[in-house]
Amino acid sequence: MNMKEYIDEAESVLLHTYNRYQIVWDKGDGMYLYDIEGKKYLDFVSGIAVFALGYNNKAYNDALKDQIDKVIHTSNYYYNIPAIEAAKKLKKISGMDRIFFTNSGAEAVEGAIKAARKYAFLRDGHTDHEIIAMNHSFHGRTMGALSVTGNPHYREAFEPMIGNIKFADFNDFESVKAAVTDKTCAIIFETVQGEGGIYPATEEFLKQVRALCDERDILLILDEIQCGMGRTGSMYAWQRYGVKPDIMTSAKAIGCGVPVGAFMMTEKVAAQSLTSGDHGTTYGGNPLACTAISKVIDLFEEQNILANVNETGAYLYEKLDELAAKYDVIKAHRGVGFMQGLEFSEPVAAVINKVMEKGLLLINAGVNVIRFIPPLIASKKDVDDMIAILDASLKEM
Ligand SMILES: *Cc1c(COP(=O)(O)O)cnc(C)c1O
Repeated sequence: MNMKEYIDEAESVLLHTYNRYQIVWDKGDGMYLYDIEGKKYLDFVSGIAVFALGYNNKAYNDALKDQIDKVIHTSNYYYNIPAIEAAKKLKKISGMDRIFFTNSGAEAVEGAIKAARKYAFLRDGHTDHEIIAMNHSFHGRTMGALSVTGNPHYREAFEPMIGNIKFADFNDFESVKAAVTDKTCAIIFETVQGEGGIYPATEEFLKQVRALCDERDILLILDEIQCGMGRTGSMYAWQRYGVKPDIMTSAKAIGCGVPVGAFMMTEKVAAQSLTSGDHGTTYGGNPLACTAISKVIDLFEEQNILANVNETGAYLYEKLDELAAKYDVIKAHRGVGFMQGLEFSEPVAAVINKVMEKGLLLINAGVNVIRFIPPLIASKKDVDDMIAILDASLKEM
């Protein structure tokens, strides 16, 4: 079958929840993806901030194959060594104390919300607590995660949400303060808003919210699903600010393609929240998933991934700044490391399609922002190649 035939077939069997680009992938290697007709694309999307190590990493593939030959799944009613290893390593890189493995980002957010509610319930003996979330945030598509997602368009048809959620403005401490009541049990936000258009939290905002949470015994939940795992140049984005959350979420790059996530918490929260019978998952933390996490963390260290993100990310910043100065249609440049965005004065769909014709993958974040979220192994040469295609495309348009 050719590409068109596969796409027609896909549209006849899959639920149409995505307007997909007209490409069928065959395989990946390093920074490149290949479609089934053999066309090669430089990838600055990495499966939405997932494939941090680049495609077809041999050490990663071999670790997974070895585990498949041993055992893929057992059950959370028993222990398994990959889960112990993965949890130990996650503790070390995050500074959190207790880990719960999930199968996705949204599930990690669900768990974080449950942990916060249980903490407040044990403290106060009642259940009418409130959570403050941010406008323009994104936390996932399940009902709990959707309830704290600050995009009314995503929520509208699925009301009622879980309830007792208030929205404040990101990076506007006064609006957060104004939303706090005696019932507030948690404040949740992304350390760098991803889907909302690549907006990093300001240091001042993070510090002020942290102080407010300490003062009122409110739990700070940081969603690091997109901005975590090295993307901003530190393992977790909050580590750059010297402010620690009480609960945090991680997913996407944590498994580099194997569907996994985690929510993690400090001992203070763990000692007084979810306990046996409160939460569970059939797959979460299974030996295959945890082998992926464990190997990914090892490879981050062996391949000096953070050093590359800091160095090449700064280079990307310079190059995008130059591009922004060159074209009036580019209104703003934001972000850090390998999580950057260019805001245009018009929808970016045409630009994305244009660069795709020329063999470059970019993705939007909202209607007007192009997001740059390459595999964390991207080199300066990859940045140059990407900029050359983008520049040529903008010139033509
Ligand atoms: C992608 C994302 C999620 C949802 O993760 P899924 O694995 O798609 O459920 C949640 N929060 C943030 C910040 C994300 O970027």
